[in-house]
Amino acid sequence: AKSSGRGAFHFFTTELQEAASRRLTLEGQLRQAIEREEIVLHFQPQVRADDGRLVGIEALMRWRQGELAVPPSQFVPVLEETGLITRLTGPVLREACAALKALEAHGFMDVRVAVNLSARQLQEPELLTLIESTLERFVLRPEQIEVEITESTLLDNALCQDNAVKLGVFGVRLALDDFGTGYSSLTYLKRFDVDALKIDRSFVQDMLEDPDDAQIVKAVVGLAAGLGIDSIGEGVEQDAQSTWLESIGCDLLQGYRIAHPMPLNDLIVWLETRYGA
Ligand code: C2E
Ligand code: CA
Ligand code: CA
Repeated sequence: AKSSGRGAFHFFTTELQEAASRRLTLEGQLRQAIEREEIVLHFQPQVRADDGRLVGIEALMRWRQGELAVPPSQFVPVLEETGLITRLTGPVLREACAALKALEAHGFMDVRVAVNLSARQLQEPELLTLIESTLERFVLRPEQIEVEITESTLLDNALCQDNAVKLGVFGVRLALDDFGTGYSSLTYLKRFDVDALKIDRSFVQDMLEDPDDAQIVKAVVGLAAGLGIDSIGEGVEQDAQSTWLESIGCDLLQGYRIAHPMPLNDLIVWLETRYGA
């Protein structure tokens, strides 16, 4: 028994070492990717549930390593833990604003772009200045940027909360991402100037089969309506899901049913085909 225990221990440390070295490799590759500007954005449309009009686009990071597309679920956590994510705030904001200007040039006016910010990014002291100068450079209005943060990000620390308040005062829109999955404390809907609730994909995916999920979705839509802010159903994959969301008064839809996230050029082709601008 003793020797097998020891064997298990060895196995365990080897596993850990391998995981640690894989991570170091990944970190190194990510540093290089940032320097070489290999991390780019794709954009996914957000449309009105009632008439299908385009309201916004969400910017989502993509990293292509040779033939391999590494999903954000694998590399974003590493960027966050190493703090490398803060180096991307400026580039992401610029690319997002440039995308809006490209849409404007094709006749799609008054669209907004939603940018995901993690706690590390939200607590940066220069965040507001960075957003202000980027908006100025691209001649865009504050309400054309929506910052997507999760509930736990908002609770993270005082710096995050200060910046969230400042962004709201400045006029940047605030959306609560993955709403309903975090430590929901509805008091911060009062404390912060929240403009939109994004109903987490997991609820949308099961709401047509699971009555509990359906109730949760209805409650969030009702809450948003009562507060006079937008509800966004995310991860909408089926016709029946968009129909039901519309019927309960959900304001906006986002998901593969409408369109996958795509590079800017593909988005413009998609928009021209769909809206014929
Ligand atoms: P998220 O902010 O919740 O983004 C929504 C995710 O759902 C995206 O995954 C999107 O591609 C995916 N999605 C959209 N529609 C559907 C659908 O109909 N069905 C399904 N199954 N999935 C759908 P993605 O692009 O892999 O991003 C994963 C996460 O990585 C994001 O979750 C966000 O937390 C993070 N992330 C992505 N880009 C950024 C970024 O620029 N900055 C930061 N801080 N985090 C980012
Ligand atoms: Ca998001
Ligand atoms: Ca989400």
